[in-house]
Amino acid sequence: MTEVIRTERKSAVLTPSSLACLARVPTVNLTAGCAHECRYCYGRGYRSHPGQGKVTFYTNLLAKLREELPRKRKKPATVYFSPSSDPFQPVPEVLEMAYEVFRFLLESEIGVAFVTKGRIPHRHCKLLAAHAPRVQGRIGMITLDSSITAAFEPGAATPEDRLSQAAELISSGVSIEARLDPILPGVTDGEDCLEPLCAALARVGVRRIAASVLFLRPAVVGSLRRHMKDKRMLKRMLDCFAGAEPLAIHAARSRVSALPAKSRLEIMGRLQSIAHRHGLEVLICACKNPDISTGSCHISGRWLAAVPGNSQSRLFQP
Ligand code: SF4
Repeated sequence: MTEVIRTERKSAVLTPSSLACLARVPTVNLTAGCAHECRYCYGRGYRSHPGQGKVTFYTNLLAKLREELPRKRKKPATVYFSPSSDPFQPVPEVLEMAYEVFRFLLESEIGVAFVTKGRIPHRHCKLLAAHAPRVQGRIGMITLDSSITAAFEPGAATPEDRLSQAAELISSGVSIEARLDPILPGVTDGEDCLEPLCAALARVGVRRIAASVLFLRPAVVGSLRRHMKDKRMLKRMLDCFAGAEPLAIHAARSRVSALPAKSRLEIMGRLQSIAHRHGLEVLICACKNPDISTGSCHISGRWLAAVPGNSQSRLFQP
């Protein structure tokens, strides 16, 4: 059961992210902390994280956004949800806020890009479908094996739920890609895991996936050690980091412990050949892999530039 700490937000709602891919897109966190409680969540190391089993919920977020947006010199083309939480957490007031904030932005002709590992309620799917040209979603998946997701992502939606909502959104015209992030070394990086996952994603109509291999920070290692019951599985994964190298990723003040470039290239090569068999394109983001990629994961979507006076033109490349 998640403890919800209700508070008024003092700082601006639309905030820049330190991640290079999001540098030009305003981002929104509906909460600090996330009820999905992924054991590997990078957000656990942030100063604003309220601690295990808790989320800080900003009760005045919509009201502040309504005040803030008209004061902007330039209306944003799109807003990204969320750099360090998930808009579709299983907390009723967070889901209600997500609905109202998405509706406000979409009715203001502002695009919405999101990444989720949550279950998107039917009402929210209908809203997204009604504004499909202005919505770009990314569904986070690490495996089809529900025993692994239960161990690593105890509060998130089941893999079946994530796939079926991807299918539903794609069939209603919403652009949906997948994020295989993080791939867990020694746990989900083998052909036995990647093959059925790619096959399932292709079956529901996904055509593009962005992928990144887990990297470690002290808070992530601490969380894994505290919460993972299957110590053999954890050891197998952490042993893969024996030759880990410090890596400066493209985010402010961010230095992480990453698998050596050779190991990440091997995993990505395996994923790419499996994905290609299923007609999936794989994107490896330079933000998290500056030593092996120059590409982008397009986490905030692919939008064409807005043409002044034409409300139909909506795409620009952030
Ligand atoms: S869904 Fe994302 S933000 Fe939420 S706990 Fe998992 S990794 Fe962190």
